[in-house]
Amino acid sequence: MKKIAILGSTGSIGTQTLEVVRRNPDVRVSALAAGTNAEKMEKQIREFRPRIAGMWTEAAAKELRARVADLDVKIVAGMEGMLEIAVMPESHVLVTAIVGMIGIRPTIAAIEAAKDIALANKETLVTAGHIITSLARKRGVSILPVDSEHSAVFQSLNGESAKRVEKILLTASGGPFRGWSREKLAQVKVEDALRHPNWSMGRKITVDSSTLVNKGLEVMEARWLFNVGLDRIQVVVHPQSVIHSAVQFADGAIMAQMGVPDMKLPIQYALFYPDRRPMPGKRLDLFELGSMSFEKPDLETFRGLKLAYQAAEAGGTMPTVYNAANERAVALFLDRKITYLQIPELIGEAMNRHRITPNPTVEKILETEQETYEYISGRISR
Ligand code: NDP
Repeated sequence: MKKIAILGSTGSIGTQTLEVVRRNPDVRVSALAAGTNAEKMEKQIREFRPRIAGMWTEAAAKELRARVADLDVKIVAGMEGMLEIAVMPESHVLVTAIVGMIGIRPTIAAIEAAKDIALANKETLVTAGHIITSLARKRGVSILPVDSEHSAVFQSLNGESAKRVEKILLTASGGPFRGWSREKLAQVKVEDALRHPNWSMGRKITVDSSTLVNKGLEVMEARWLFNVGLDRIQVVVHPQSVIHSAVQFADGAIMAQMGVPDMKLPIQYALFYPDRRPMPGKRLDLFELGSMSFEKPDLETFRGLKLAYQAAEAGGTMPTVYNAANERAVALFLDRKITYLQIPELIGEAMNRHRITPNPTVEKILETEQETYEYISGRISR
């Protein structure tokens, strides 16, 4: 019996993880955690019967305690609660499906407690990849990627020597504004940015996909997960989203993972690796697909991706600035307080004024996050 704990169980990845659990009776949910949605958490508790459930705010935890007073479940709150869930003795795997850098501490705690990590929360690796990957190596813990691109790379590497990797080819759909000019992008409204052509995801990541910031974060994530230099990670725009990513080896062979876009596949692969379990659902029909196309990304129009390479190159606290500035800018855009093109503008500004600390500690990363949030808020209220 495999026991898993899920941070972010009420979100897009969290609920799809629970769908995978529903189909696999040999998996048990030992704990669930979310932000504030006590109503959805109550439903999940009633169905999956975890021993512990956590909410980020004390108010949500109080509401949840009242809702599930008839059940034998411990309700915890805040970071303390998430840390308790991360290290609980009975669980084998921690699924990190929360949004933001809040995932760093629980992920580190879980690795220290020798839990494998099914990692969706990309901000954790982007900002603290140097800490997390070396700690995982030291503890002999696996970090199993849930992000579809990284899962595709992971699947393509199966059985191959990492030493023979020449290049990682990270595919990108190009988002809903592929081929658009900056003049056209200046007109983009919230509703337009929330319409992703191929994947159904949370709001923040959907906007990030349209700006290519998501791909930028994925480049940084790939660098840590697969221990390759930035010059060997190439972004390839592939509008059909059929090749989820690929690896080119030293003999020129390219191994790719293909399929219909469905996050449940990488989630299931991460949970049962190295087993590839059956999964019902739509299959890729190559005749129906007919053809596939590939393009170079337009780094001048979609500056978010160019800035990501610059932030990754600079290293230290710079990826944290990139990530935090984007997070705040996207929230402001969703609140209709800034325009679409101000998202990359603000990221660039925040990066320009930042003085890098190399090899930052978790405290320094969180301090940099806070400073960047304050800078962006100050810039907009001015
Ligand atoms: P969602 O916004 O759909 O879900 C976020 C989840 O995190 C919710 O359960 C939310 O709870 C919870 N949460 C938010 N804040 C806190 C907090 N402070 N403490 C505890 N829980 C919190 O996001 P996604 O599922 O789309 O994304 C999750 C992560 O996975 C992100 O890092 C994203 O980049 C990554 N990812 C997502 C993919 C996708 O297809 N969606 C693909 C690859 C990676 P509540 O509902 O209560 O607010």
